[in-house]
Amino acid sequence: MSLAPQELENSASKYAAEAIKLDSQGSRGMAIQSYQRAIEALVKLVQIYPDYKLNKVYMERANAYQNRIKALQMSHGLDDDSPAPAESASAGGNGRSEPANGKSGSSHSGGGKSSGNVETLKADFDDLVMKDKPKVSWDEVIGLDDAKRAIRESIVYPMKRPDLFPLGWPRGILLYGPPGCGKTLLAAAAAAEIDGYFINVDAASMMSKWLGEAEKNISKLFKMARSLNENEGVPVLLFIDEIDSLLGQRNSEVGGEVRVKNQFLTEMDGINGKSKESQLYVIGATNKPWSLEAGFLRRFQKRIYVTLPDNASRTNLFSQYTKPLNTEGSLKIEELAKITEGYSASDVKDICQSVQLRVVNELFESGKAMEAGANPRPVGNNDFKEILKIRKPSVSVDMIRAYMRWSDQFKAL
Ligand code: ADP
Repeated sequence: MSLAPQELENSASKYAAEAIKLDSQGSRGMAIQSYQRAIEALVKLVQIYPDYKLNKVYMERANAYQNRIKALQMSHGLDDDSPAPAESASAGGNGRSEPANGKSGSSHSGGGKSSGNVETLKADFDDLVMKDKPKVSWDEVIGLDDAKRAIRESIVYPMKRPDLFPLGWPRGILLYGPPGCGKTLLAAAAAAEIDGYFINVDAASMMSKWLGEAEKNISKLFKMARSLNENEGVPVLLFIDEIDSLLGQRNSEVGGEVRVKNQFLTEMDGINGKSKESQLYVIGATNKPWSLEAGFLRRFQKRIYVTLPDNASRTNLFSQYTKPLNTEGSLKIEELAKITEGYSASDVKDICQSVQLRVVNELFESGKAMEAGANPRPVGNNDFKEILKIRKPSVSVDMIRAYMRWSDQFKAL
């Protein structure tokens, strides 16, 4: 018997309310788990009832929670589970902070020549755009050496020594590959290194939110990015996730998709033709590179495949994500890496999280959780194996073949 939509909706609301509460209390890890449960309930709802009238709203909500998870993960590093500083904890709330150079994006006093304009533009995007300075270092991005090098060459080096690039350098970079392998993380690490604004937008939620107005809003978004760069002298990295949605079918307006796409291409041409002083970059990310057409691809001079982790990277991922767990040194990480071929980086992280939950649940079920000094037992390889029985890779072998085929044809490092 499947659940009625109402029941699934109630359970999503319950988890979301829990997440928001935990988020506002600074319990980052627990908040992330509750947001994830809320997302799972919403996704299940949409899958079971594909024709349900509120599905669009549910997917928007799920996207908002996903963005919040990313904001929580990005702004506090990967290992640090310390409470978040006072941040918005609304359901779709995006953490906001100042650019790295200390100039506040919202500190204008009315005297600047056009910063007022920037403020108005920013206000238009408050609920979709995360302007943040992520605390992600290159070391925290495991593996992906080619991708790291290509991003450094095209963004970091030209920014540091523009005089060494008389022929200019790429402003558009496309990251493609299976979900959960580090596209967002790479973009965040690049933004952290160039010490600038990181504008993180999700094209899918942009398109559904701006139904019929996407064209105008894309132009505003780029205008905001340009103004931030020109008026505040801070480099700006505009990260557009799910960029394939700009070509999608969601815009119900007749001819809407074409106009949105053309607007985007025009904006990209503007950026690519910019003088050396301009420090504005666009990183697009997609799990469906095959849905992008040639005109689109041409605007992204670098096209980088962000792959599933290989054996060595999975070993490092397990080592990173089991660090906070009590393992009593008994864990054989190499074995775990071997049996998780085909799993994404974020699958590995989720597996570690599930193992942790397993021993915590055990403690609660034993009725001893509230006793003084009670702690979960150490985790071992068997706990991971049990979780792996019920947790399959999120990417299929066929999908990987499709990425490789596309990559052979279109990658550009
Ligand atoms: P994508 O943008 O490719 O869908 P993300 O960068 O959002 O994937 O990854 C989701 C989460 O999975 C990250 O926040 C991080 O915790 C983990 N993760 C993904 N890739 C890596 C990686 N290469 N190294 C370390 N952690 C990773």
